Amino acid sequence: MDFFKKIFGYFFRNELTIRHKLVNVILGTAFLVQFPSLIMGIIVRTSTMGIITQIVMIFFIALVLYFTNKYPDSSIPPMIIVGVANLLVFPYMYFVCGGYSSGIVIWILFGSIFTWLLVDTKPAIVITIIIFGLINGCLFIEKMYPQFVARLYTRNDEIMDTSLSFLFVTLIFGVIFKYQTAAYEKQAKTLRANDDALRNLNEDLEEANLRLATASEAKSSFLANMSHEIRTPINAVLGMDEMILRECRDKQILEYANDIDSAGHQLLSLVNDILDFSKIESGKMELHPVEYELFSVMYDCYNMILMRARRKDLTFTVANDPELPAFLFGDEVRIRQVIMNLLTNAVKYTKDGSVTLSFGFENIDEDNINLIISVKDTGIGISEDNQKSLFDSFTRLDENMHRNIEGTGLGLSITKKFTDMMGGTIDVESELYKGSTFTVTIPQKIAGREAIGKFDEKLNHKRVTVPEDRDITAAPAEKFTAPHARILVVDDVKMNLNVVRLLLKKTNVQTDLAASGDECLKYTLMKRYDIILMDHMMPIMDGIEAFHRIREQADGLNTDTPVVALTANALVGAQEMYLAEGFASYLSKPVKGSDLEDCLLKLLPEDKIVWEDNGNEDKA
Ligand code: ADP
Repeated sequence: MDFFKKIFGYFFRNELTIRHKLVNVILGTAFLVQFPSLIMGIIVRTSTMGIITQIVMIFFIALVLYFTNKYPDSSIPPMIIVGVANLLVFPYMYFVCGGYSSGIVIWILFGSIFTWLLVDTKPAIVITIIIFGLINGCLFIEKMYPQFVARLYTRNDEIMDTSLSFLFVTLIFGVIFKYQTAAYEKQAKTLRANDDALRNLNEDLEEANLRLATASEAKSSFLANMSHEIRTPINAVLGMDEMILRECRDKQILEYANDIDSAGHQLLSLVNDILDFSKIESGKMELHPVEYELFSVMYDCYNMILMRARRKDLTFTVANDPELPAFLFGDEVRIRQVIMNLLTNAVKYTKDGSVTLSFGFENIDEDNINLIISVKDTGIGISEDNQKSLFDSFTRLDENMHRNIEGTGLGLSITKKFTDMMGGTIDVESELYKGSTFTVTIPQKIAGREAIGKFDEKLNHKRVTVPEDRDITAAPAEKFTAPHARILVVDDVKMNLNVVRLLLKKTNVQTDLAASGDECLKYTLMKRYDIILMDHMMPIMDGIEAFHRIREQADGLNTDTPVVALTANALVGAQEMYLAEGFASYLSKPVKGSDLEDCLLKLLPEDKIVWEDNGNEDKA
């Protein structure tokens, strides 16, 4: 029993195709049928040649069966079976086993039908045509030369041969078709089961997707809220701290205030990084290409990093190709962010020596260049192994070595994502303990062909004087007053109202403070303002609604007053959103005194600005 099970298992193993299993069924059945057929041949006294042929057939079938299963992927065995049986064996048997009065015609029919089961359509057509030619040839020869055909001995033998041939062929086809139908049904059942399983899996996936999308949306809105919630208190902390830095003369307290200032800004950049990162992750980060002046990017980066470099006694230089086009078209904000991330790292990870920021370019075509920015430092460097995971999110290398250096491991991953989004590349060359050079290449459109010139010379021209002990971005020098200007500040957080009022104190502007949208609308009915500074997220009536209500206010005195969004909503795209609503400008919290003053300078009527140096003389 075991022996038969083994044989069955071998000929019908799972990896065989249905067609291959069919070949096994045909060959197996043909092999087994040969034995009773041989006995029948002896009974009906077939010619000796007929009997020898049948014995040869048994060996031939066994051989083909063996090779078919040894090389299951080959299409040659079915072709050999079909070719040999139809083109050699059956025509030969026609002449030695009794001609058209015997059962051989039924076997020839069998041969041509199973050709269609075993081989592809094209060879099957060719073989059928050949068989048709051959059988007609055999019939013709028998008619013309009956002596070439070895006939069976009696009419009874012929009838019996035909009858038994019919029985065997029917049996063989019966088995084949039954097997084939069963195999296809089994396969269809498996397919149906797989289909059901796939459908279920699909439904599960769709459900999971929906849950993920909801979770991701919840995450985004949580981040937006968190950004707002964190920025609001930082606004108060940094604003009040700025007042201490401005007004206090006690050296010790100034030192404390300086520390608060630097920790506050650090916290702010952390919130910004996390927001950027989650925006990129959710695919909501978009580029906002604009025309910009390259020198102002260089100048601002220079200014922002110079004090940090000085504090660590590092030499900081900016070098550039003077032939660079002065005006470019691209996402200036992201480019600044990329440069600042690299520069901050360079200063952070360099103990002594220098940091160099260089700008070069290569022409792509008439209208486009590759802007090449490189940041080189003489710092601790990055080992070759670590360079591979450098741009992965949340990766901080050699935590032990850097444990005193603040960081989240997000900066470079964001930098790389921004560069990718802009169609650029970022590379690093670094040697441990010697230093690193990060090179970013970003394609930019040329907005103006004029050459930028040498950064150093332009810088001297600007005559920048950087105070030795304070970051020039931290405390603005108040250069003007505007005692006749009237400003309305709207914010639901009392502390924020105070911060703005105090930051504007020295400009002598008249400030009214409104703690809600409703209160704001009362003020705008009573007084004409030069500027309204409006918070966005306020209970009951938010800043955008209040803004539109001011515009539509019947008898309102401020229907055309510039309204500035002063909000903690610092998500990417916020500025565009406020400008599109009709706001005159946008300031994000925590706001700096210098930003507020710049805003006044931009929006106040010129006759209300009084320059300190020139007495009452207008700047214009
Ligand atoms: P982090 O907030 O930790 O600075 P980044 O993504 O900016 O995160 O950098 C990832 C890691 O790459 C850092 O923790 C640091 O180990 C390494 N790294 C980045 N820039 C430099 C550099 N200029 N010199 C040496 N190591 C650097």
